[in-house]
Amino acid sequence: MTGPAPSATARRILTAELLAVGSELTTGETRDANGGELAASLAAAGVAVRRIVALPDRLDLVVAAFLEALAEVDLVVSTGGLGPTPDDLTREALAAAVGEVPTVDPGLEDWLRAMFARRGIPLPAVNLKQAWRIPSAASIPNENGTAPGWWVDRPDGRIAVLLPGPPRELRPMWTEWAMPRLRERGIGDGRVVRVLRTYGIGESSVVETLGEAMFRAANPVVATYARADWLDVRISAVDEVEPGGRTRPAADVVAAAESRIREVLAGYVRAEGEATWGDVVGAVATAQGVTFATTEAGSGGALAGLLSDVPQLVEAVIHPAGAVPDAGAGQDAIADPGGTDAAPSPLIAAAREVARRAGVPVGLAVAVRADGPHTLVRAALIVPWAVAGEEPLLDLRLFAHGSHGRLRAAVAAAAFLAEILQRGPSGTP
Ligand code: ATP
Ligand code: MG
Repeated sequence: MTGPAPSATARRILTAELLAVGSELTTGETRDANGGELAASLAAAGVAVRRIVALPDRLDLVVAAFLEALAEVDLVVSTGGLGPTPDDLTREALAAAVGEVPTVDPGLEDWLRAMFARRGIPLPAVNLKQAWRIPSAASIPNENGTAPGWWVDRPDGRIAVLLPGPPRELRPMWTEWAMPRLRERGIGDGRVVRVLRTYGIGESSVVETLGEAMFRAANPVVATYARADWLDVRISAVDEVEPGGRTRPAADVVAAAESRIREVLAGYVRAEGEATWGDVVGAVATAQGVTFATTEAGSGGALAGLLSDVPQLVEAVIHPAGAVPDAGAGQDAIADPGGTDAAPSPLIAAAREVARRAGVPVGLAVAVRADGPHTLVRAALIVPWAVAGEEPLLDLRLFAHGSHGRLRAAVAAAAFLAEILQRGPSGTP
């Protein structure tokens, strides 16, 4: 690490502000991909992010934003504006805000020259400003670009972290360099967070079932987040000081809320944390000891995409909308998902055929069709324990269309697969 030793002033990092610098953000050419990611990592560590601001490449505005943040919050993190061109002026702005003058750091200059030498080109004069440092800044190494970051300690214990703009450059600098140092320094309010991922129940039903009081409480904080694939229920809590002065640990507060939510939402909680539908399907396939194959029509391959990391998925066939060719050319897969005992529907035939061809015991055939603002999804599943004529079927109309509708359809098919596999031969979960 180049630069001064960390400041001795102890200040726990409880609040933060995020600045995304670059005119491409304020003209709408690029969307800020960094703010959300940094905010998620800070929130998980118990830091309250007070705002996420996008700023154009204007020195006066960036200086003002740094000054304001450094007067109000414990940590300010900027991304962007560390490039070599004159419009990249985050270094200049921070230097002005703290009243210091940047100079070329010989160690950084050597590093920069070596990097350009490896590329076989001399260091362009403009790039020299990427070797700048102010006295109170420590340099954050960038393994994926030419812009080192800055870690700046203020005398009052506040911290400014300057990172480059490209997500692939700043991500490791943040997670592997800055976050560990922030943890050492003391970060967050000791908050414990737990996310329960539900499926098959709407947001308003969740609130109604759990009762509004739960969503108004200050500790734990319970909130729902509707996503394309899950309805997340996020529980977060800090240590609770009880009337008698005893402290109830945050983990206990979360655990109590969690068991209550699990009890009330019983069958709907299907995963935790960051788990994906691939993880869920993989886990039940492992538990049942089965491999499977899928064939899908009209979904743009959304199901195969969703399950692409599942090791038990042996074959995934993707067809355009309409017929499922495995079931015989020209058959309309979606018309009649059940068919009859004697004449199984094209969807059942397709599920059988894809399993047979892949040599696996489980086959899933899915047909998706747009219908105005809706998406229809129908599916048939072949499992070794189902009797012919009693194949599990899915028939849903989703209030979503376009690519969002196709993704929701794939999620519905994955949830259907996971549920039937989980029930197993006995038919109970
Ligand atoms: P480097 O010199 O390594 O490119 P930099 O700090 O100069 O880093 P910028 O010049 O500000 O970065 O941005 C480089 C590119 O990074 C931009 O053209 C943009 O594509 C991307 N970028 C910058 N900020 C963001 C952001 N907040 N979200 C997503 N992409 C961003
Ligand atoms: Mg820029």
